[in-house]
Amino acid sequence: MKEFKEKMTKKRKGTSLRRFVAGCMLGVFCLGLSLNMGNAAALAAYNDSCTVRQEKIAEGTQYETTLYVIESHNPGPTVLVTGGVHGNEPAGYKAAAELIDEEIKCGTLLVLPNANQIAIDKNLRSPSATGNLNRKFPTTANGSAEGTLAKAILAMMKDYEVDWVLDLHEGANYSKLSSTSSVGQSVIYYPSGEAASAAKKIVSTLNERITTSYRQFQVLKYPAKGSLARAGAIVCGANSMIIETCTRDTLNTRIERQLIAVDVILERVGMK
Ligand SMILES: [Zn+2]
Repeated sequence: MKEFKEKMTKKRKGTSLRRFVAGCMLGVFCLGLSLNMGNAAALAAYNDSCTVRQEKIAEGTQYETTLYVIESHNPGPTVLVTGGVHGNEPAGYKAAAELIDEEIKCGTLLVLPNANQIAIDKNLRSPSATGNLNRKFPTTANGSAEGTLAKAILAMMKDYEVDWVLDLHEGANYSKLSSTSSVGQSVIYYPSGEAASAAKKIVSTLNERITTSYRQFQVLKYPAKGSLARAGAIVCGANSMIIETCTRDTLNTRIERQLIAVDVILERVGMK
């Protein structure tokens, strides 16, 4: 387990002295509350100070896109949710867009809804400007990303020392059908251990609502080499996963499933 308090002070979180002092005052306030109201009530009061700010990724380039940084003042993990790495997989970027003002109880939630804005604008998996973004990330711990956009996203992941990476994607078919090689309706994790356990929890939670066997989610391993999720694990030590809905379902259903999957992780790490 990492030491979150120490880590939070290291990150580029724009922590100004004023915010630090405000946080301390709030902490003292909450300590006082806790004496009278119990810890739960005090924590609830503290959580109200959760803040959202925006940063630009690949600023000033044709790839520029917005990162939403949601910070609690309580120590905790850093979770990154990305959508739109592939521009023709709308449930991923639409679900991520719904998370940009999420309230969290601890840690930091990073949301990059439109990771590849050019791909989204063109409704393409691999626009010529970027190629397949999900093969541009390093395949070794000290490797480099390829291209301006992947380099910028990787730099952000390193700067924030992400603990979890949830990359939202879609497949054209149900992965359980033997007739397809699609990975739709799956959670693809890396590495083993906690990421695998968390992926299984997402799958079991989602499958409670899906009665037809071949339409159910399954756990798969591992994300492709060069993918954002896999790089998050091998470069940053994160628990990573790609969450794949299936485009044969309605868009609303797919968005809902993506959000349930993210919720499973946010609850697991104590953010919700
Ligand atoms: Zn994809």
